Amino acid sequence: MSIEVQQLSKSYGSEKALKNVSFSIGSGEVVGFLGPNGAGKSTLMRILTTYLSPDEGRALVNGHDVKAEPMKVKRSVGYLPENNPLYSDLYVKEYLSFQCGIHKTGRQRIDEVVEQLGLRDHASKKISQLSKGYKQRVGLAAALLHDPEVLILDEPTTGLDPNQLAEIRELIREIGKTKTILLSTHIMQEVEAMCDRVLIINKGTLVTDTKLKDLITEGEQHIEVEFDLVVEEQLLRQLPHLEKAENVYDTTWSLVFKTEKDMRSELFDFANNNGLKALKINKKIQNLESMFREMTRNLQD
Ligand code: ADP
Ligand code: MG
Repeated sequence: MSIEVQQLSKSYGSEKALKNVSFSIGSGEVVGFLGPNGAGKSTLMRILTTYLSPDEGRALVNGHDVKAEPMKVKRSVGYLPENNPLYSDLYVKEYLSFQCGIHKTGRQRIDEVVEQLGLRDHASKKISQLSKGYKQRVGLAAALLHDPEVLILDEPTTGLDPNQLAEIRELIREIGKTKTILLSTHIMQEVEAMCDRVLIINKGTLVTDTKLKDLITEGEQHIEVEFDLVVEEQLLRQLPHLEKAENVYDTTWSLVFKTEKDMRSELFDFANNNGLKALKINKKIQNLESMFREMTRNLQD
């Protein structure tokens, strides 16, 4: 197991941030750690990276106990902390060189991670000059310098604009092909875009642990489509296999089809044939949405 968490609890004074949390993550998995603000995500990640000590329970990374073997754990994990604290006065290469010193890693790794993260044209810039997306790449590069088996990324996509978001998602997906990743987010769509599995945490308690593919109902397809013009439901009813049509907002519809066939190209043609343009066609994992909604409802109790 890459990550093993056994009955972990942690309090800040009288505030219980983690309550008896257990899960394990196998090598090569990309797992989303989903929960609203204050749920306990960062606390758990700080424990896994040895920056905080648990009150009760155990945590192992790559087989090493965070309390007993913190140095071995540090060598096994790359960590991108929340809000990506960088030294903005340093130049990118200078910062990575400084990080190499901390990890006692050979300087040749700098060029490798600069290349991997698409930072070549920015390596000689000051960190303060970079966009948020590129700062995030620098944080990821630093986390990858010592070539760790496991990556722990605390809200790596928060605060990015849509273009930066797409780029960082793509990079994380690419990195996930060769590493175990645990990434936290409070946005459900991020899990859908990047992860194989989701852990949902609510008020310090793990409430869900499931593979995304197990959330897909066989023979049912949820598609969100945005047209360029307002469309009547009657027209959409002509679509084959359509089970349900819901107008989400303006010209965006949520459609449910009962078929194994991928309906996206069918929808594209349907729009064309009816003088419409399909601006966006996205497949959705409906069960993840309802699970997440249920979780946030609990929160308001
Ligand atoms: P998340 O990352 O999911 O937003 P956190 O792990 O940061 O959640 O916080 C979990 C809970 O612990 C919250 O209620 C938060 O207010 C509290 N908390 C976090 N860090 C501290 C701290 N250093 N001191 C006191 N309380 C804290
Ligand atoms: Mg947090």
